[in-house]
Amino acid sequence: MLSLPVDCILPQFLNAKLADGSLADLTVTDGRFSAITPAANAPTPPPSAIDLAGQLVLPAFVEGHIHLDTSFYGDAWHPHIPCTDGFDVRERVAFQMRNLEQAAPMEERAKNQLELCIGNGSLAMRSHVMVDANVELKHVQTILGVREKYRDVIDIQLVAFPQSGILSSPGTAELLDEALKLGCDLIGGLDPASFDRDVKGHLDVVFGLAEKRGAGIDIHLHDGGTLGLFEIEEIAARTRALGMHGKVAISHAYALGDIAPDALAKAGEMLAASGVAIMTNAPGKHPFPPVAALREAGVTVFAGSDNIRDSWRPYGDGDMLNRANMIGYRSGFYEDRELEAAWDVVSRAGASALGLEGYGIAVGAKANFVALKAEHVPEAVVAVPKGRTVYRAGRAIARDGAMIE
Ligand SMILES: [Zn+2]
Repeated sequence: MLSLPVDCILPQFLNAKLADGSLADLTVTDGRFSAITPAANAPTPPPSAIDLAGQLVLPAFVEGHIHLDTSFYGDAWHPHIPCTDGFDVRERVAFQMRNLEQAAPMEERAKNQLELCIGNGSLAMRSHVMVDANVELKHVQTILGVREKYRDVIDIQLVAFPQSGILSSPGTAELLDEALKLGCDLIGGLDPASFDRDVKGHLDVVFGLAEKRGAGIDIHLHDGGTLGLFEIEEIAARTRALGMHGKVAISHAYALGDIAPDALAKAGEMLAASGVAIMTNAPGKHPFPPVAALREAGVTVFAGSDNIRDSWRPYGDGDMLNRANMIGYRSGFYEDRELEAAWDVVSRAGASALGLEGYGIAVGAKANFVALKAEHVPEAVVAVPKGRTVYRAGRAIARDGAMIE
């Protein structure tokens, strides 16, 4: 078959506004950008080309932390049950089990949530999936099936997540190993100190399985103050010892939001040197990791929706551009460079934390992008325009929040 040299292929997208404000024509070959050239404004444009008419083109968003198995999005409303004596992870897990027993089938709920995220512009995702002695591998098996069904439209990493602890839920370590064997990409963890009350024992299992299976790590860490900081130090030390730079993330890491500035500076340096990324969703009224200070220290800070209509929080809309808005709002970001940093957290930094290949609007990158009406990135972050078209490998797959059939 005759194949044309790249420079003979006509651009498919005209007048795309790039992040630097320039207008460009985009050519996509085999699902990747093969040319990005200044807008030609040709009097007779190629008939099949799509005129983006100056819409801002952004790389598809990165949903870095979500729970596909436990959301009730699209299901009946499940009213939030408050903890009886302040926030308590163990009690919240018990509420969750009760709610899940009365929920719509998991596959249906996971698809609802997935299509919400894709419709908003996320084409890469990391989902934690519950593994414990009670549900065993049922959640993992269901979500693996859902991932397979959506493999052509979104890249999903799955974390085998010990929602009920590891040592406190006998048999979980073996189930986590099995989950990795079945296809989970990462091993999770949960508050080694406050949940399992054994930091060493918990991390021995997590890092041991990561080493055995060549898996990445993403640990839920809600423990605050010096206790949380101690756990962060332990995680960083083990990451360095195993040469896992760039393969380990700590989700939430609330402790970084409530320690003294000098301790934070040291922690930032340590995390950057160890290659441990930090995930935040800028949660409610809770202290959270200071995004600007950590980024300045060289730490990869990424973001996720985390809870969407689940037993933990009723909020969440699966829109990572809105998440950038929340992060910027809670961080007191006002200047353009700060708003651009909030955007970076849900895009480039997310891609870096997830180890995505070919991310961005650049020649050679995958043509996974979102077109929306905004003058530039800072305006997109504050205005959160809807009316988006989402392209996967150069093909429109979602418009105005809904998948295109
Ligand atoms: Zn989570």
